[in-house]
Amino acid sequence: MNDFVHPISDEFKEIFFIKGAREGKYPYSHSLLIGDVLIDTGISSRLLRKLKRLYPINTVLLSHWHEDHTSGNRLLSEVKFFTHSKDRFLIENVNKFNEFYGISNSPAEEEFEWLMEGLRLKNTKIDDLIEDNQIIKVRNGYNIRIIHTPGHTAGHCAFLELNSKIAFLADIDLTNFVFYAGIDSNLMDFENSINKLSQFDVKTAVTGHRGIIDGKKSIREELKKYLSIIHKRDERILSYFSETNPKTLVDFKNQNIIYKYYSQFKEYEIIAEMIMIQKHFDKFLENELIMLNNDGYTLK
Ligand SMILES: [Zn+2]
Ligand SMILES: [Zn+2]
Repeated sequence: MNDFVHPISDEFKEIFFIKGAREGKYPYSHSLLIGDVLIDTGISSRLLRKLKRLYPINTVLLSHWHEDHTSGNRLLSEVKFFTHSKDRFLIENVNKFNEFYGISNSPAEEEFEWLMEGLRLKNTKIDDLIEDNQIIKVRNGYNIRIIHTPGHTAGHCAFLELNSKIAFLADIDLTNFVFYAGIDSNLMDFENSINKLSQFDVKTAVTGHRGIIDGKKSIREELKKYLSIIHKRDERILSYFSETNPKTLVDFKNQNIIYKYYSQFKEYEIIAEMIMIQKHFDKFLENELIMLNNDGYTLK
C-alpha cells in the first residue's frame, strides 16, 4: 500500500503530495515530491524508506532547519541537500538546536533531547545553497522557484513549481498554530512573508502540517486568516498594557496567551510562549505602541 503518496494533478503526473506520519503532526511533517526532488524529510523513517524504494530521490530541498522537517536526512546518504544560507549552520550542527529554541539549561532541555534521540537527528552536510527567486530545474521541464519567507526561521523558504502552480509553503502551514519561538524567528518578517506568498499565482498549496489546499481564492483567504491569528495575539497582549502600570515579560508568564492550554510538553510551551510574546514586544516597540518605563513597559 502506497497510501501516503498522493498524485496532486492529472496533468502534472510527477508531482506528489507525500503525507507524513500521524497526519503530518509534529514531530512529523508532510513533503512534496517533484520528479526526483523531495522537499523536506520529516514524513517519518518508515515512510521515507518506503518512498525511496518507490521513487528514486536525487535532490532534497530543505525548507528550514527544524527537526520535524529534517529528521529523515540521515536516510538519504546518496542525495544532494540544498537549503537557504541562513539555515545551513543548524542543519550541519544539530547540537545547537537547544540554544536556538532558547531551552539550554532549562527544565525543557531534557525532554527535547529525549525527543531528538527518538528522531535520531544527525548533522547533514549541505551541498548547495538556495536563494530567493532562484529557479531549480527538475527533469521533464519542471521548474521550482525558491521563495525566501523568513520569520518562522531566518532561512525559511517556500517553493513554487511554475508549470503546475503547485506550491509547498512548509511552516507557513495555515493551521491555528503560528510558531515564531526560535531565537532566529522574527515576527515582522513572518508577517511580510505571509503577505509575500499571497502575491504569487498559486493554484494548489501544500503545507508542512496541514496538507493540500486547493484554489487560488481559498489559499489567499487562508493566508489572511493565518495572518489574523498574529493580529489577534497582538491585541490580546497589548490589552495587558496601560499608560501607568509598567509590565514586564514575567507578568505574561503562565497566562495561556498563545497556548490555549499546555500539553504534556508544558515546560517547553511556557518557554516558547514567552519567546513569542517577546517578539510581539519587539514589534510594539518598533511601532512605538509601548515604551520603556522604569523596569517595564507602558503604552505610549
Ligand atoms: Zn518549523
Ligand atoms: Zn514544522
